[in-house]
Amino acid sequence: MSTVVIIGAGTAGTLVANRLAKQLSPNDTIIAIDQDNSHLYQPGLLFVPFGKAKPSKLTRPRAGQLSKQVTYIQGSVANIDTKDNTVVLKDRPPIRYDVAVIASGSRIVIEETEGLIGDGWLKDAFTFYSLEGATALRDRLAGFTSGRIVVNVIDLPIKCPVAPLEFCFLLDAFFGDRSIRDKVKITYVTPLDGAFTKPVCSSILGSMLHDRNIDLITEFNTGSVDYARNTLISYDGREVPFDLAVLIPPHTGAEFVFNSQDLGDDFGFIPTEPKSLVSKVAKNVFVIGDATDIPASKAGSVAHFEGEVVCNNVLHYLRSEPLEETFDGHANCFIESGHNKAMLIDFNYETEPLPGKFPLRIGAPLLKESKLNHLGKLAFAWVYWHVLLKGRDIPLIGSQMPRSGKQFLIQPVREVMPTQSQPTQSQDSH
Ligand SMILES: Cc1cc2nc3c(=O)[nH]c(=O)nc-3n(C[C@H](O)[C@H](O)[C@H](O)COP(=O)(O)OP(=O)(O)OC[C@H]3O[C@@H](n4cnc5c(N)ncnc54)[C@H](O)[C@@H]3O)c2cc1C
Repeated sequence: MSTVVIIGAGTAGTLVANRLAKQLSPNDTIIAIDQDNSHLYQPGLLFVPFGKAKPSKLTRPRAGQLSKQVTYIQGSVANIDTKDNTVVLKDRPPIRYDVAVIASGSRIVIEETEGLIGDGWLKDAFTFYSLEGATALRDRLAGFTSGRIVVNVIDLPIKCPVAPLEFCFLLDAFFGDRSIRDKVKITYVTPLDGAFTKPVCSSILGSMLHDRNIDLITEFNTGSVDYARNTLISYDGREVPFDLAVLIPPHTGAEFVFNSQDLGDDFGFIPTEPKSLVSKVAKNVFVIGDATDIPASKAGSVAHFEGEVVCNNVLHYLRSEPLEETFDGHANCFIESGHNKAMLIDFNYETEPLPGKFPLRIGAPLLKESKLNHLGKLAFAWVYWHVLLKGRDIPLIGSQMPRSGKQFLIQPVREVMPTQSQPTQSQDSH
């Protein structure tokens, strides 16, 4: 009889709990802990500002997403003592574990950027990375008829690295549909040296911004926000003025990680073996989803692909067997591009997003806008609640990245348009 404690019942924690409920013996105990009882479908946040998703439809009770074999505890984790195999809660007795799975995600830290929480916050500056922010932004966008909108990724890594670009494409379509696109200047400001990290994808996304008359400012590391002049100021003194700023604040790991001895890095992410997903701090602590420091995207799809490996390795650990090292960094994202179209990218640690088809030689087009991909993006909400969270496999889509259908050995398809800064060395966005 073993006790597995899962910290965080968001995307990753829920799917791991439900998978383990099928794999462990009924005599084993599975406990999932979360600080609240509202599971948010985060990909839906992208659509809220455009009135295309209702905030009330994006949340469901956490406990309702978990198998009956899982004990759900609503409580805030204060820290983990990995030497004593104990999870310490703020308002409850500590819980001892045989295995812990850390699935506490990442969080935005608005206060990290100088001046961001000032007079203009939720007046001229917003984020759609929270339900409150996305809802407030919806109301502001509805009344916006002319001026400068700046979409700025303040620092990396962030969850769903393509979401800010999708937001730009949707802005373009939103104002185009209202026949006032020529009155709105849209600028995408990023710390990267291109629109995105991976060369082929960055080139294509850069061209898509250019085609939509969206300016791209690169290598801009936002140091502060000045609401007196409504201006973003970079550490190297450059300035970007705005009438409306849509900001993606810096992300860190969960607060308790900072309060747990030797658990996380300086940003609260947990050093994790990239292929087995065991933590580097203890052999009986596994890490999944945004909480890890592995060089994979912070995305729900990644958490889904990781789930199989984490659960297998929990079982291997409990049986004193060697761990499997099979996670390949597989990520899969639909990139909404406006006017009911989307692109699809599929990649892993070794292979950048490439053109072709997914998941086989016949399938959805990769790195190409299509209505089919847009339908896939919409269908993802159903798949999320009914397949991913349930810990089920998706037919034809395994945990590892499929190679069939991808066009390897290609050169960047289109040149990136010139940007407003000189490229230097590239940065990894995770
Ligand atoms: C705008 C937006 C769009 C996105 N679009 C996509 C997309 O299209 N496709 C995609 O794959 N991904 C997308 N993502 C990313 C995806 O939602 C996340 O990567 C995914 O939810 C990560 O899962 P997780 O379980 O690691 O973290 P979460 O789902 O965030 O869960 C972490 C959980 O830990 C809990 N927790 C934290 N600290 C404590 C504590 N001290 N005590 C108890 N509980 C705690 C939290 O309450 C939370 O429930 C998007 C994200 C955003 C913000």
